[in-house]
Amino acid sequence: MAIDLSEAARDRGIKYFLISYTDLFGAQRAKLVPAAAIGDMQKAGAGFAGFATWLDMSPSDSDLFAKPDPDSLIQLPWKPEVGWLAADLWMDGKEVEQAPRNLLKRLIARSGHQMKSGIEPEMFLVNADGTQISDPSDTAEKPCYDQQALMRRYDVITEICDAMIQLGWGPYQNDHEDANGQFEMNWNYGPALQTADQHAFYKFMAKSIAEKHGLRATFMPKPFLNLTGSGCHAHVSLWDGGKNLFADPNGELGVSELGYHFIGGLMHNTDAICALTNPTVNSYKRINAPRTTSGATWAPNSITYTGNNRTHMIRIPDAGRFEFRLGDGAANPYLLQAAILAAGLDGVENKRDPGKRLDINMYTDGHTVTDCKKLPLNLLDAIRAFESSPATRTMFGEEFVTAYAKLKNQEWNNYTRHLTQWERDNTLDC
Ligand code: ADP
Ligand code: MG
Ligand code: MG
Ligand code: MG
Ligand code: MG
Repeated sequence: MAIDLSEAARDRGIKYFLISYTDLFGAQRAKLVPAAAIGDMQKAGAGFAGFATWLDMSPSDSDLFAKPDPDSLIQLPWKPEVGWLAADLWMDGKEVEQAPRNLLKRLIARSGHQMKSGIEPEMFLVNADGTQISDPSDTAEKPCYDQQALMRRYDVITEICDAMIQLGWGPYQNDHEDANGQFEMNWNYGPALQTADQHAFYKFMAKSIAEKHGLRATFMPKPFLNLTGSGCHAHVSLWDGGKNLFADPNGELGVSELGYHFIGGLMHNTDAICALTNPTVNSYKRINAPRTTSGATWAPNSITYTGNNRTHMIRIPDAGRFEFRLGDGAANPYLLQAAILAAGLDGVENKRDPGKRLDINMYTDGHTVTDCKKLPLNLLDAIRAFESSPATRTMFGEEFVTAYAKLKNQEWNNYTRHLTQWERDNTLDC
C-alpha cells in the first residue's frame, strides 16, 4: 500500500512538499504544499492552470490536478525539510493522455516485461550568466578525465554524489568529461519509471547544488560550438522478474534475439522518436556535428549499431544490454524512456532485424557505408518525421502526438523568426 504522506511528514520532519510534474518541454512545475495540507492533496492532487505550462491546453480548460506518487518521495538532501514528489496529471476525472509521466506509465503497463535503464546525463558547470565555463583554468585540449580540473570542482561534485549515496541510488563514479567545463556522474540503473524520476530529480538537484556554490549547471546539448556537447546516453535491458531477457551467452556479443529485435525497433523508428530524444533546436548542433577541439564529438551521425565502439548510435558494451547514445541533455526524462521503450517494443512485436553490426570508426570511415540512414539534420526534420511516421500514433497515441507536434512546431516557428549573425555575414553582399 502507498505510504501516507501526512505520516511520512511527521516521521521524517518534512515541513513542505513539492508536488512536481514535468511538462512536454521538460520543465518541472510545482506547488509547495505545507505538510498540514498534504493529506487532502495526496487524494485530490494539487490544482494548476494547464495552459500556463507546456501541455497544449486552453485557458478555458478545467483545473489540472497533479496527484503525487507517494513512491517517488525524495527528501531534498540539501534541504531535508522539503519532500519532492513526482505527480501524475488528471483533468475532469481522467488521466491527461499527453502528460509525459502518464505516457511512460501507459507504455510500461503495456510492455509485458520490465525495461530497466541507466542514464548518463552530461552537464557543464558554467558561470551564473551562462556565458562561460566556470573554471578559467580548464583549458586542456583533451580535458576528459582531467584530474586537476575535476578536483577544482570537488565541492560541487561531491555534494551531489553524497546526496545520491544518501538517497540509495548507488552512485559509482564521477568524472570530468570530454569538453572543458563538462562533468558526468553515474549511478545504478533501475526500472524505467524510477530512472525517469531520478533523471528529473537529478537535473533539479544538480542545478540547485550548483547554484548554492555560485555556479550554474546546464544540460544544454551544445552550449559551446567548438566543444563536445552534452549527451544523455541510456543503457537498456529488459527483464522478466530476475531474468535479463537481453542476455544470451550464445547470442552475438552476449545479446539475445529479443535484444536484437529491440535494437532493430529503435533503429527502425529513430527518425520518428528523434524529436523526443533530441528535442531542441540546439540538439542538432550536437549530433551530425563537425569534429570538436578534443578530436571527436562522441555523438552519432547515422543510424547504426556496433560492439564496444563509441562512434555509433547504438553500442553493445557488454553482454545483456546495449547503450543508446542518441539522446541529449535536453531530453525530457520521461519521454526519453518512453521513446526507447515504444520503439523497442515495436521492434519486438514486429521482429525487426537490425542487420549486421558495423565495426568501423564512423567518424573517419562513415562515408564508406552507403546503405545506412542518416539522423535528422535539424529539429524541423525531426518534427516532420515524428508527425508523419505511421508508427508514432500507434506507439504514443493520437493525443500525445498532436500536442507534442503542435508545441514543437510553434517552437520551430519562433526560432525561424530570429535573424542570425550568420545570415548577415553571408547575405549582406548578395
Ligand atoms: P559508459 O560511459 O561506458 O557508457 P557509464 O558507466 O557511464 O558507461 O554508464 C553506464 C550505465 O549503464 C549506468 O547507469 C549503469 O548502471 C547502467 N547499466 C549497467 N548495466 C545495465 C543493464 N543491464 N541494464 C541497464 N542499464 C545498465
Ligand atoms: Mg490562483
Ligand atoms: Mg559514461
Ligand atoms: Mg559521457
Ligand atoms: Mg555512455
